[in-house]
Amino acid sequence: MNACDIALPNINAIKPYQPGKPIDELERELGISNIIKLASNENPLGPSEVVLTAIAQAAKALTRYPDGNGFVLKAALADYYQLTADQITLGNGSNDVLELLARTFVSPADEVIFSQYAFAVYPLVTQAIGAKAVIAPSRDFGHDLDAMTTLISDKTKLIFIANPNNPTGTAIAPEQIEAFLQQVPSSVIVVLDEAYVEYTTQTVNTVEWLANYPNLVITRTFSKAYGLAALRVGYSLSSPDIADLLNRIRQPFNVNSLALAAATAALSEQAYIDQTKQVNEAGLKQFEAGFKLLGLSFIPSKGNFITVNVKRNADAVFQLLLQQGVIVRPIANYGLPHHLRISIGLPTENQRCLDALAIALEQKHD
Ligand SMILES: *Cc1c(COP(=O)(O)O)cnc(C)c1O
Repeated sequence: MNACDIALPNINAIKPYQPGKPIDELERELGISNIIKLASNENPLGPSEVVLTAIAQAAKALTRYPDGNGFVLKAALADYYQLTADQITLGNGSNDVLELLARTFVSPADEVIFSQYAFAVYPLVTQAIGAKAVIAPSRDFGHDLDAMTTLISDKTKLIFIANPNNPTGTAIAPEQIEAFLQQVPSSVIVVLDEAYVEYTTQTVNTVEWLANYPNLVITRTFSKAYGLAALRVGYSLSSPDIADLLNRIRQPFNVNSLALAAATAALSEQAYIDQTKQVNEAGLKQFEAGFKLLGLSFIPSKGNFITVNVKRNADAVFQLLLQQGVIVRPIANYGLPHHLRISIGLPTENQRCLDALAIALEQKHD
């Protein structure tokens, strides 16, 4: 018996998500230490004391199931966004919520629209359902909302838009997104994935749009600016109706107690976010200057990472960086075989990465 013969064809066709290489794995493979990882857009500052204290406190109750309704975190988020708690859906990372949205609204006969170079999870959740992915060509590595509009059909159920986008770091003006929302039929769910919104200088409060567009869902996460990637906690903001539907199919305890406690504590730490943004701004400038010195072009980024064109097989450069203990992210799987995505680290980490890149680029290449 071959399990693949009995599995669903759409599942057989899935290419698994490729995560950033873990530090421990590279340590085992190369037997080296002092490795830096700039591969998964994590916050280089590490968790704050306030968050660590909240986790230590919550750890005392580990024998208990978590609060399946996430009452305290939802109340904190509702207060933060001036929404009601019944508009919030918590997820085991925002990836969890992205998948719930697809499973709630999309059947195998339907279509899902997203952009070329969009976040890898969108094709994954679409394929897992067996629905058709309709891919809008990008414009300057970013979303082309006009192209997306023309692709909307009777079969379109869901549109995913990450703003800023990963892996390109491009962002579109909120005004453009709102103009787009006005074009989209109300029978199509628009998921605005704002995993990196905290890094932007955007002043428009997109959350206010929820009042006017009942088909809009905004997703955000504690994995990036809030520095809690390991705990897996994200959420969506939507109409109460959509939240109610998502609630029916989520796992009853999809967010664990440590994550709930840490996220609640993190939400009140604006100083941590401010510091995070400062470190990121400086790091982006450091990389931009470094790339210019190396004669490399890059995609201007609004996120906590920057995507650089290394003008040769980027996987080979990735390997040469690994040998120097620097983990970055090749993105050939996104259709960008000459680019590397580099997460912004601490100043010393950024410099080590740039130095390693200079050495890698001196090697003979194809
Ligand atoms: C990192 C990221 C997420 C968030 O993932 P989590 O599951 O919340 O860790 C969502 N969307 C995009 C575009 C991302 O890059």
